[in-house]
Amino acid sequence: TSKIRIGIAGYGNLGRGVQAAIAKNSDMELVGVYSRRDPDTLQLAQPAPRYSVDVLGDHVDDIDVLILCGGSKSDLPEQGPRMAALFNTVDSFDTHARIPEYYETVNAPAKAAGKTALISAGWDPGMFSINRVYGEALLPDGETYTFWGRGLSQGHSDAVRRVPGVAGGVQYTIPSPEAIEQVRAGLRPTLSTREKHQRECYVVLEDGADENTVRELIVNMEHYFDQYDTTVNFIDAQTLAAEHSDMPHGGFVIRSGNTSESQKQVIEYSLALGSNPEFTSSVLVAYARAAFRMNQRGITGAQTVYDVAPGLLSPKSPAQLRAELL
Ligand code: NDP
Repeated sequence: TSKIRIGIAGYGNLGRGVQAAIAKNSDMELVGVYSRRDPDTLQLAQPAPRYSVDVLGDHVDDIDVLILCGGSKSDLPEQGPRMAALFNTVDSFDTHARIPEYYETVNAPAKAAGKTALISAGWDPGMFSINRVYGEALLPDGETYTFWGRGLSQGHSDAVRRVPGVAGGVQYTIPSPEAIEQVRAGLRPTLSTREKHQRECYVVLEDGADENTVRELIVNMEHYFDQYDTTVNFIDAQTLAAEHSDMPHGGFVIRSGNTSESQKQVIEYSLALGSNPEFTSSVLVAYARAAFRMNQRGITGAQTVYDVAPGLLSPKSPAQLRAELL
């Protein structure tokens, strides 16, 4: 059987990750990397055909699934609906509050074109979403808890870098060990924002900037830090580059519930990711396989991870899955 032909739209962290993930899936091949920038200026991690996004319309017969690797804030709201009219697509749209609206804007063009658009895959939304549904459905009398970290938060790191006097920096989100312990014990605690996560910053100061002033500006920043216990560590630029360049992340989805008055049950799913974008990309590639198969079966329009049967993610046949994994 021939390989599933994948296109990458947008070459940032996820674009690079998708390229790496395709190399680990022998039933897939990379047709091309498409960018809004001049393709000749792109530094690809591995050699591959590079194109401008402007030629995508000419490549509709060459690509089985286009993986959209743009940012959720401004790229995907525009690219998602436009590309879903031309290709089967997969994306990682992660602005949770806007997913219902995004679903509608992608569903209409995908449906009209007979394409399948798998939206909001990744880990949160994505694998964590699936585990929240499993938890609720299997233990209706219970509570679901999502903890994030230890991990680098892109949004909070950006906020730290915008503080006057800050030359560089990163922010890690850390789940509270005490809170996790209570949840794992099945105590079903009510936890405030402050009790669930802490924040830890590593900051390089600009010449002449004052540590205490910068610390106060960070820990009191509205929405980002004021509802959390935040520690600020000052380091030099070399240490920042040497020790804080990776993008680790992860977390836990825990459901604890009661099946009868005397019986507690706890379900836990956890991720410890060396690289958030590389893991997210691996998820996107598995969902590209599913989107391709769903399209072949006539399942079109916008779909979410809730609509995808697990077996569709695997390169193995249903018979092989029954024999080897069931
Ligand atoms: P990047 O900022 O690295 O890339 C986003 C886009 O910006 C790229 O597609 C690229 O488009 C452009 N770009 C990248 N590098 C440069 C550059 N040097 N100069 C100019 N433009 C550049 O974002 P990520 O890949 O890290 O993340 C994309 C999205 O993935 C995030 O917004 C987030 O919402 C989502 N995400 C979802 C997760 C989930 O679990 N669901 C987890 C992690 C991320 P082009 O090539 O066209 O210029």
